[in-house]
Amino acid sequence: MRGWWREIGSLVLPTACAGCGGARTVLCAACRTLLSAGPAVRVRPVPEPEGLPPVYAAVAYADEARAVLLAHKERGVLSLAGPLGRALAVGVRAASAAAAAEDRLLSLVPVPSSRPAVAGRGHDPVRRIALAAAGWLRREGLAVRVRPALRQRRRVADQSGLTAGQRAANLAGALVVRPGGLAAGDPVLLVDDVLTTGASLAEAARAVRSAGGRPVGAAVVAGPPIGWT
Ligand SMILES: [Zn+2]
Repeated sequence: MRGWWREIGSLVLPTACAGCGGARTVLCAACRTLLSAGPAVRVRPVPEPEGLPPVYAAVAYADEARAVLLAHKERGVLSLAGPLGRALAVGVRAASAAAAAEDRLLSLVPVPSSRPAVAGRGHDPVRRIALAAAGWLRREGLAVRVRPALRQRRRVADQSGLTAGQRAANLAGALVVRPGGLAAGDPVLLVDDVLTTGASLAEAARAVRSAGGRPVGAAVVAGPPIGWT
């Protein structure tokens, strides 16, 4: 109900651009271009968590990109999933090229949100962006499929406000692959909205490996703004 209401709301209310606050449109042409112009950049958190596969980001997590991600995630502007998916697709392309995995059916595995977070927001933003990204990539001829193979095994504390070490401890062993969630042998590309400390992606990679899967890389819409070139 909540998601339905938001979707209707974002259709009928004339809104400012979610990125720059300009033109009376959900996302202006300039912000749309900024999100997916590429090239994707390999991003490395400092310190880099053990087991983190190579991560590629389409943009830096700042300014317009940050505003668009938050509008989608927290305000439920669901029509932003398309442009955000296009940005994620830029990261996925770079990650799959780096892993030389383009000729195989690639499984995009979203980092799961907790059930209370999904219930509170009325939607699962990362999964929605991943599905949009897969749509773009298939239209461009890449064989991809979204596999929501991971789930949280136990409740984890809100990550915001935790140090890198605390985040890693908070997440250790928190994720598990659903039975039958992965196709044996298919390369897995982990996807998330934002990379901060890398703790979530490292834990996701660990869970995939422990289920016999093969995480070859990761892609995010946005990476840490520091060190972005
Ligand atoms: Zn704009």
